[in-house]
Amino acid sequence: MSSPRFRIAPSPTGYFHVGGARTALFNWALARQLGGTFVLRIEDTDTDRNRPEWTQGIIDALAWIGISADDPHFEGPYLQSDYTQQHVAAVQQLVDAGKAYYCDMTAADIEARNKAEGSTGYAGWSRDRNLGPGPDRVVRFRVLAGTTIVRDQVRGDVEFDNALIEDFVLLRSNGAPVFLLANVVDDIHMRISHVLRAEEHLSNTPKQQMLWEALGTPSPVWAHVPLLVNEQRKKISKRRDKVALEQYRAEGYLANAMVNYLMTLGWTPKGPEVQPWPQIEGDFRLEDVHLSPAFFDLKKLAAFNGDYIRMLSAHEFLEACRPWLLGPDAGFPADRFDETKFLAMAPHIQPRCVTLADAPGVVDFLFLAEPIIDQDAWAKVFAAPDAVAVLREAIVAYDAMVEWNHEALKSTLEAIGATHDLKLGKTQAPVRAAVSGRSVGPPLFEALEVLGRDETLRRMRNAEAALA
Ligand code: GLU
Repeated sequence: MSSPRFRIAPSPTGYFHVGGARTALFNWALARQLGGTFVLRIEDTDTDRNRPEWTQGIIDALAWIGISADDPHFEGPYLQSDYTQQHVAAVQQLVDAGKAYYCDMTAADIEARNKAEGSTGYAGWSRDRNLGPGPDRVVRFRVLAGTTIVRDQVRGDVEFDNALIEDFVLLRSNGAPVFLLANVVDDIHMRISHVLRAEEHLSNTPKQQMLWEALGTPSPVWAHVPLLVNEQRKKISKRRDKVALEQYRAEGYLANAMVNYLMTLGWTPKGPEVQPWPQIEGDFRLEDVHLSPAFFDLKKLAAFNGDYIRMLSAHEFLEACRPWLLGPDAGFPADRFDETKFLAMAPHIQPRCVTLADAPGVVDFLFLAEPIIDQDAWAKVFAAPDAVAVLREAIVAYDAMVEWNHEALKSTLEAIGATHDLKLGKTQAPVRAAVSGRSVGPPLFEALEVLGRDETLRRMRNAEAALA
């Protein structure tokens, strides 16, 4: 048996949709698992809505989720617009075989006829008129009586009554092939064995199956995967929801978190849901794909991302965060950023991040010339009994410390707290406020170790002076 050939066939009409990414990943997992091929075909024949730059956007988005054009399983991209001649030739083949026919009825003609006959749709009126090509004529497919059974690997056998399918148009009056036809002709020509796509295309499938058969090729394995829905159980869409894969990337989601999460939409891994790609690729089975719509749950995605961020080594975390740390929104000047300090703090920053974009805000005070004071938090901290006294005593004790490390910083402050009958949290607060300007942040003593003795004491003394 020849190796299976999968494909995705996105149209370059905008940012790559997360649903498209999920479909791509399902195809990719199977193509690689089965030693097959993943074909990328750009369906760019709708010239009103297509823009060439979106094609590159699709390629980049796929590469981000690990579907690399350099992988030996990858083939393409092919542009549908390069095959128009073949689409037209296929229509001719169908006309020659009597499986399709010309029709000159305009929309207005059809409407008038339906009005007169009290019907709807198009009842094959030109089937036996033996019209040839001519201006304003379309080509329609002759739908035969009977039923069409689509054998779907996910949904089982789905039966369609051919009586409910009108003789659909294959070639428009301007000579342009319709999407349905071009899609099938390309799939045949590209020897696609598996058409795995979103459920919304299921209604097209009986027509497409008729076309495959009429063109003399057994239809492929069909698999329609469930829709992605939002919290209101509505299909996620550009208008209502954040659906662009690129946007998640820009917001600091990790590619492998996104990939793992997308794979759980409509499929449940055997073990824990958080799994490395090789495991997923090996375990994924079409038979296990669910029928019901999958909830695209942003909270769950955030949880996956947090998990994946925590799994990074300090160096990987630094590299992943770099665009945010050195970007215009970092909150500190890029030339004050210090990699060594960041690496030392990384294990304490990672658990505080949902996205990579959160990282600068956790450690900005380490890289600012002066901390930015949160006035409310500051006022509250120093209104507490003994807060100012603790700060003064900490300055003296820290100044006298021999070894500047987080254990010593902690035990020194703990001892001061004990003399004021304060727990560590309360004792830390004035020191934290003095060095960071805030009442919350990463573990204090590790931060002070990284900040260094001189800078820590300078900030504490400045705070003391400001309070005096
Ligand atoms: N161009 C179609 C789309 O983007 C492809 C449908 C299919 O996968 O067959 O929805």
